[in-house]
Amino acid sequence: MQFVHDGNFTLPSQKDALNHFSKNWNPEVFENEFQERSAFAQGIKIIQNYYKDNNPYDIKIVDLESRFSVDLKHNGEVHLISGIIDRIDKTEDGYEIIDYKTANKLPAQSHIEENLQLLIYLLAFIKRYPDLAKNPEKVKLSLYYLKHGTKLSATKTAQQLEQEKEKIFDLFEEIKKSDFKPQTSPLCDWCDFQEICPMWKHKFKKEINATDQEKQALIKKYLDLQEKAKENRQEITSLQKEILDIMESEQVDRLFANKKIVTRTCRQTFGYDEEKLKEILKKKQLWDKVVKVNQTQLNKALRTLSSSEKQQVEKIKELKSESYGLSIKKDK
Ligand code: SF4
Repeated sequence: MQFVHDGNFTLPSQKDALNHFSKNWNPEVFENEFQERSAFAQGIKIIQNYYKDNNPYDIKIVDLESRFSVDLKHNGEVHLISGIIDRIDKTEDGYEIIDYKTANKLPAQSHIEENLQLLIYLLAFIKRYPDLAKNPEKVKLSLYYLKHGTKLSATKTAQQLEQEKEKIFDLFEEIKKSDFKPQTSPLCDWCDFQEICPMWKHKFKKEINATDQEKQALIKKYLDLQEKAKENRQEITSLQKEILDIMESEQVDRLFANKKIVTRTCRQTFGYDEEKLKEILKKKQLWDKVVKVNQTQLNKALRTLSSSEKQQVEKIKELKSESYGLSIKKDK
């Protein structure tokens, strides 16, 4: 999108943009060919649709990939927020700040009204043009969902801006309390902090001494054993199936071999009519004791809440226990 709008007198045509996209395509970042091909096709479609819906010559660009930093004072502390705004346009009576999104899901309008990223962009923009502080509604804030070809916009009055700043201050407090566990995602490939991130820094360790070699040998032994265990588990599952078949054909529930007894066990799970169960147990004040928060369902429900409701839930979250395990995956 930066390429599409970058130019003084002549701007790239759709054909130029498609060529630029193809030339700069990096297939390495995808896990498999299918993902790579569908992402490429999606990119082509996004560019074609973008040109169908927009004439770059009609747009008055103020800045692209516009770097900013804004400091916000709160409780005697100064917090510096910096970032890059994708695009700033001049409109008939003001400006428009645009951030491109490649999300699959188009959010509700309320998401744009409450969007913290756009709020920060607006504060940064007002720092650049302080006269706008009196009438920030002259700055349209937009998220452009490229996969849908849809732009969702909002504006803020000076009063709203003042009130909503509180959300940023609340976030400062949350950030100070957080312990920031790193979470790997495809974005790690673009992260500048890999060399200091606990999830990656071992890969970049330069000096390997004797102790490190011992550690490497230990890790290798663990991985080999895990591999063997995986093979054993597969074999055990297939033997279990064969033994259950023998029991079925001999009509027995126990087999005797090698001074051991192998018994067929049966695990059953039941479901209940929840409304009826609730009715019975509520009378005895037992319902609250049997109902537990289902984390999967809660995560789904959280996605539908507004950011302030999410923050309320976050505040009442308590860590009950913590334990560590190991997981293994291929290093690309
Ligand atoms: S490299 Fe580390 S800090 Fe960077 S995105 Fe990945 S997990 Fe997060």
